[in-house]
Amino acid sequence: MLTCTGNPLRYILLLLLLIPAAARAQKGETAVDTTRHVFYLDEEGWDSGGKHIRGLLGVLGPHWGFGYDSLLNRISRWRRSPYVTIDSLGASVQNRGIWQLTITSPLPQIKYRRTVFIHARTHPGEVQAFHVADAIIDFLTSENDFARVLRDRTVFYIVPMYNPDGVELDAPRENAHGVDLERGWDKVPMEPEVATLKRRFAELMASPAPIEIALNMHSAYLCKRYFVYHEASGTSPDYAAREQRFITGVHSYFADGIEPWPFNRTWDSVAPTHFPESWWWFNHGADVMALTYEDMNCETAGMYDSTGYAILRGIGDYLRLPASVVDAGELGPQGLLLHQNYPNPFSGSTTIRYAVARPTHVLLRVFNQLGEDMGKVVDEYQGSGEYEVRWNGAEHPSGVYIYRIETGDGVESRWLTLRK
Ligand SMILES: [Zn+2]
Repeated sequence: MLTCTGNPLRYILLLLLLIPAAARAQKGETAVDTTRHVFYLDEEGWDSGGKHIRGLLGVLGPHWGFGYDSLLNRISRWRRSPYVTIDSLGASVQNRGIWQLTITSPLPQIKYRRTVFIHARTHPGEVQAFHVADAIIDFLTSENDFARVLRDRTVFYIVPMYNPDGVELDAPRENAHGVDLERGWDKVPMEPEVATLKRRFAELMASPAPIEIALNMHSAYLCKRYFVYHEASGTSPDYAAREQRFITGVHSYFADGIEPWPFNRTWDSVAPTHFPESWWWFNHGADVMALTYEDMNCETAGMYDSTGYAILRGIGDYLRLPASVVDAGELGPQGLLLHQNYPNPFSGSTTIRYAVARPTHVLLRVFNQLGEDMGKVVDEYQGSGEYEVRWNGAEHPSGVYIYRIETGDGVESRWLTLRK
């Protein structure tokens, strides 16, 4: 508390405290409260004069080193992969294509694949977001064993340059109308880029294979790699737990490169309405893991391959995909392997493991000794890999049962013993 006591020393101390603050204010340097900025999407270290980003343009060259022409060149290379299909989803304000890659195995008989959507470079100055998406595309189109698992069991839709006009205009964050598309999801009239992506999301969500994971790729001046985590208070406890599971999964594959989930937390009350993730939350709730990823927007950025790989492994774990394709040679002529259940005998439930060498319809059923069907344990189209399912004997009397697997390639069965 300040009281005038007549002691001149107090005034001198007070002046010493006040002068530096006044000098700062005159120079127009408002102190950046980094703790506050952590809570705002895409605002990390952003200075309204665009000083940092303009400096980066000077270092990286026009269009931050990767313009629309570079994208078209890259598309002609991607197009040569047998796993890639390229489509234009719509056009930007200045009529540039909003290109989408579809990456999956070219096997038309696979009906039930999981769906992942990734879009990058909403903010043109965040070119690192493109490089991460590019690394993901490189891996997905490679002959790596895990890439095969992903292609067999998922469809990846990737839009590597969502804001091509902004890229061409050297705009740090905006489209050709000067609108920040990241914050334009509730704007009327809607920008054509936003309308295009919203339409595509709605189309896929109404399809038999709706999007389960939607990643929105950015990069931030904090010079860290992290996901923007939405608090349970702005979403739901169930969703927050899933977010933690997803982010922790990715982090575990690049622990010294990607920050753990508590690093960046937002939506501590109700979710705002203008972000893509808000659109996901208000329209599809916990059904879709919709997250912004921020790469490093600074001189030490890099290691895009490690980042892309970690994100893909995290996606695989989140969707509970097997880690590798089973070698067809190991599984005999039927391309099928049914393991003994464990524990066995058992009292409550037991685990049944099996493997299939190629994508096929799998029907796994349990029968009693009279041949009566006790119900389906699995009835779906599955990619090649090893699987593990639980069978619960709680509703059935003690006894010996038969479990039988049928695929497009063959049939196998084994005995199990329920002892209560
Ligand atoms: Zn951004």
